[in-house]
Amino acid sequence: MAGYLEGIRSIKDLPIDNQRLFLRVDFNVPLEDGKVADDTRIREALPTIRHAMERGAKVILASHLGRPKGPDAALSMEIVGARLAELLDAEVHVPEDCIGDAAKKVVLDLRAGQVCLLENLRFHAEEEQNDEGFAKELARLADVYVDDAFGAVHRAHASVHAIARLFRDRGCGFLLEREIEALGKLVLGAEKPYVAVLGGAKVSDKIAVVEALLTQVDALLIGGAMANTFLAAIGKDVKASRVEADKLALARSIVDKAHSRRVELLLPTDAVVAAGVGASSGAVVDVTAVPDGMMILDIGPRSVETFSKRFVGAKTVFWNGPMGLFERPAFANGTFGLAKAMAESGAFTVVGGGDSAAAVHAAGGDIAKQMSHISTGGGASLELIEGKRLPGIEVLRSAAE
Ligand code: ADP
Ligand code: MG
Repeated sequence: MAGYLEGIRSIKDLPIDNQRLFLRVDFNVPLEDGKVADDTRIREALPTIRHAMERGAKVILASHLGRPKGPDAALSMEIVGARLAELLDAEVHVPEDCIGDAAKKVVLDLRAGQVCLLENLRFHAEEEQNDEGFAKELARLADVYVDDAFGAVHRAHASVHAIARLFRDRGCGFLLEREIEALGKLVLGAEKPYVAVLGGAKVSDKIAVVEALLTQVDALLIGGAMANTFLAAIGKDVKASRVEADKLALARSIVDKAHSRRVELLLPTDAVVAAGVGASSGAVVDVTAVPDGMMILDIGPRSVETFSKRFVGAKTVFWNGPMGLFERPAFANGTFGLAKAMAESGAFTVVGGGDSAAAVHAAGGDIAKQMSHISTGGGASLELIEGKRLPGIEVLRSAAE
């Protein structure tokens, strides 16, 4: 069974040899002092880029970078191109614009196996407008289209949506393929028992995900600041903890829904508390006994144990949202402890969300390696889990026009 990838061709199966390949990547990297501060996203795209080079494609890379209002030297792809050239140990030409004569000339000069990187797509407002004319200008540069930018597929933008339909030969790169395959398994019917862990900053960020998961999972474990609102909703006094007062009714309705669907919903029973987010240490207390003036900044050891037990025998585990303020060592044990238990569970394990992915890497040891899949796209992975059809994925299917 092809699963969620049905109808989507892999770069492996596309005729890219000696052809001009438009390769949409996610090079939206953090910059600092005019340099790439974290090149993870560039390195993650290397296998697809190298594959294309080895097959003798003329590789035309394209991405957005930041949120420019128009051409802006501080957000020029030159910065990214310089780092890419080092990583590839190859020349990377960056034309001064992503369309028009400058781009055409650089592409014309490309030989098989060579790479160029188009200037920031968002220097043109038409990119975010999914403009047909702009998409045609981009498409004119190439013969084959491949998308490997999972972080952008939930957006109907010209370089991920309008452009793809203009190519008969279109498909996905290795990164996107792995994302669609792993997350698609969850969406199309995860193997049961299916346990989901949700945490992170806010309930309001995750309402749609919670609602969707409630129809699929056997157990839902809730931690992080998000759990505060649930604890308050069921009558616990969480004192100075961050609570979304306008989401109490919603939290109560989620608890009720879980009950009527026979989804086991677990909340923390103990917590690590401190006087504020700047504290360098915390105290473990029962959630029924949070001292005055204190706030919950992590789930406690008993909760880690209870939550971890739910992974035993589970066939699928999905996790989004840290269990606490894991960026500070005093409040990282809940997140790291649960990550370890999840990694060792033997289930098909998927982690989604920017901070969650960072937390799993920060947890150390082999934990990140032991996960079945760590998604690179925050917004895109959550929208997939919600059951949404993402424009940048659907347009790649051969039946789509
Ligand atoms: P993701 O990016 O994985 O979707 P979120 O953005 O929803 O995750 O939430 C991550 C943030 O939530 C982290 O910065 C973490 O410190 C914070 N957080 C989690 N639990 C708490 C808590 N109890 N108190 C304060 N911050 C918390
Ligand atoms: Mg986040």
